[in-house]
Amino acid sequence: MRDIVILGSTGSIGSQTLDVIRERRDQFRVAALTAGGSNIPLLAEQILEFAPPLVALSRPTAVQDLQLALYAAAKQRGWATGEMTLPKIVAGPEANLEAARLPCDLVMNAITGAAGLTATLATLEAGTKLALANKESLVIGGRLVTDKAAPGQLIAVDSEHSAIAQCLRAGRTQEVRRVILTASGGPFRGRRREELTEVTPEQAMKHPTWNMGRVITINSATLVNKGLELLEAGLLYDIDLDLIEPVVHPQSIVHSMVEFHDGSTIAQCSPPDMRLPIALSLSWPDRLANASAPIDWTQAASWTFEPLDHEAFPAVDLARRAGQLGGTAPAVFNAANEACVDAFCAGTLSFLGIVDTIARVLDEHVANAENPEPAGGDVLSSRPRGAGLVGADRVTIDDVLAADAWARARAADICA
Ligand code: NDP
Repeated sequence: MRDIVILGSTGSIGSQTLDVIRERRDQFRVAALTAGGSNIPLLAEQILEFAPPLVALSRPTAVQDLQLALYAAAKQRGWATGEMTLPKIVAGPEANLEAARLPCDLVMNAITGAAGLTATLATLEAGTKLALANKESLVIGGRLVTDKAAPGQLIAVDSEHSAIAQCLRAGRTQEVRRVILTASGGPFRGRRREELTEVTPEQAMKHPTWNMGRVITINSATLVNKGLELLEAGLLYDIDLDLIEPVVHPQSIVHSMVEFHDGSTIAQCSPPDMRLPIALSLSWPDRLANASAPIDWTQAASWTFEPLDHEAFPAVDLARRAGQLGGTAPAVFNAANEACVDAFCAGTLSFLGIVDTIARVLDEHVANAENPEPAGGDVLSSRPRGAGLVGADRVTIDDVLAADAWARARAADICA
């Protein structure tokens, strides 16, 4: 029996992790669930079904709502008072960390965005295995995260990175020549830049092959997600970013490939279903039987591949640049994007404005390193301390958080 903590249980990855566990109650037990607090009825249902001893909410005002929802859900099931054991409920900005530090076999970090960083670090410090869906924490933390991870402690959840890990089993590290990172191309594949000016949030939310949370769906439309994944692959598998090549594969069946130096390419293939990489992450390096439906070879099918149009979708090149700059640059790339996605969804920024604004904020971050702010802050741009690029060899958690806060504020300023 393995005890699992799920951070972000009400989201797309969190719910699918519970789907995997639901089918294997004899192998897994839920030790804790956490959420932001925006979908209390779903969290209440999950608590009644999986009975975790601990529940953490980052929004303290949601605690009372959760207690009421638990009683309402129990009543709906016809449960008498006393039939239900209430979990310990903790709340506040640090609540996730209590769950991340819980003694258990594995923590699934399925929080969205930079908010997942502290939980990633807390899990690694506690010495627990970490299934990392929250790629943003790895990208922005960089070596702060990888240096804390013992060999085998950090397990990929992203389908591409799970695929790479599986392909890497086919050869030795020194035999790897390239990694081919596949991308569906998103809903606007094939459009030229000038055909993207009028894109609406509703159109961007319609992903052709995956059903995911809001931020990653918009990120898939802009290809920012592929940029984050490029940085994630570099960090997870210690591969030079120039040796990772994104390739568009609209069917999302080949989840990524590794090319070895003899000219052989190994691919991992399966129909698009996140429950497969999630299941593998829960039991890595072993496979769970029947995690997902396999490919149906009785049906005719075509799998196609095409190069990425970097002019229409410059996000991958921009991410590569941020990764090569290193230090606080990836945190700026990510935070500016999170602010821009909010602005785009609120209707105050155009679709193309997302990546254009990230580029501008990143340029300013680099320029600030050459013109450090005067003591006491810069009155003209009111940028907080820590805004200038900090090199990879010197970066601390405070630098990352300061760069994140500055980039978020700067991007929001530009959007306003
Ligand atoms: P969702 O938006 O669907 O879910 C996010 C979860 O995180 C929710 O439970 C949310 O709770 C919780 N959450 C958000 N902010 C906080 C916070 N500050 N503290 C605690 N919990 C918080 O996202 P996804 O499941 O789509 O994505 C999660 C991560 O997995 C992302 O990093 C994404 O890039 C990655 N990923 C997702 C894939 C997918 O198919 N969805 C595929 C591969 C990677 P609440 O709802 O209460 O706010």
